[in-house]
Amino acid sequence: MSLKRNIYVVEDESHIQELLKYNLEAVGYHVSLFLSGEEMLLQCENTQPDMFILDLMLPGMDGYEILRRIRQNPRLKTLPVILLTARGEEFDRVLGLELGADDYITKPFSTRELQARVKALFRRSELPVEPNHEKLMAGDITIDLQRHEVYKGDRKLELTLKEFELLKMLIQNRGHVLTRELLLEKVWGFDYYGETRTVDVHIRYLRQKIEDDDSKPGYIETVRGVGYRFI
Ligand code: CA
Repeated sequence: MSLKRNIYVVEDESHIQELLKYNLEAVGYHVSLFLSGEEMLLQCENTQPDMFILDLMLPGMDGYEILRRIRQNPRLKTLPVILLTARGEEFDRVLGLELGADDYITKPFSTRELQARVKALFRRSELPVEPNHEKLMAGDITIDLQRHEVYKGDRKLELTLKEFELLKMLIQNRGHVLTRELLLEKVWGFDYYGETRTVDVHIRYLRQKIEDDDSKPGYIETVRGVGYRFI
């Protein structure tokens, strides 16, 4: 338990590399720095970190492409990823979400913001074990909370961390309408206030995975203008 968590950072500007390393190591993480996605992915053939922080604008492979490859790799795909964007830089938030980014940090950032976001993401990635409710069941969907797995019948579904948390939240509150704002707050944290489209994007992906026919959802109902309800 005393092993330090390791964060792989891909960033091509040396002063930002140093800033990230210094401030994250100051709060007890171990940071490995990489100048390019190619170099980092090569390292991942032998080891893996506990989190990735990816700059978007890089020579060679950009941050989106690195993220895409992480999410396609069975060993890496569930690891948390933060994208680093620069203020004023054109940034496609929805693309980032669709590719499975867990959070964003905009440069320039404060030390406190950086440390808080990394800490919050580690906390969200570690789902608490709920000893009296190890499994949640709804129709043919079963969530194994302890093992962090979701089944539809006997088939195991591959959900991202956010999809998992969203589904868990909806099933735990089944029958009740959950507003987009509430889902944002519970699943993404307060920082995302206002980005309600985030919820819609993830619900769409979740439906594709859990519904028999995602154009006629039988599990997750849209309550127009309000939010979603698990039925
Ligand atoms: Ca850059």
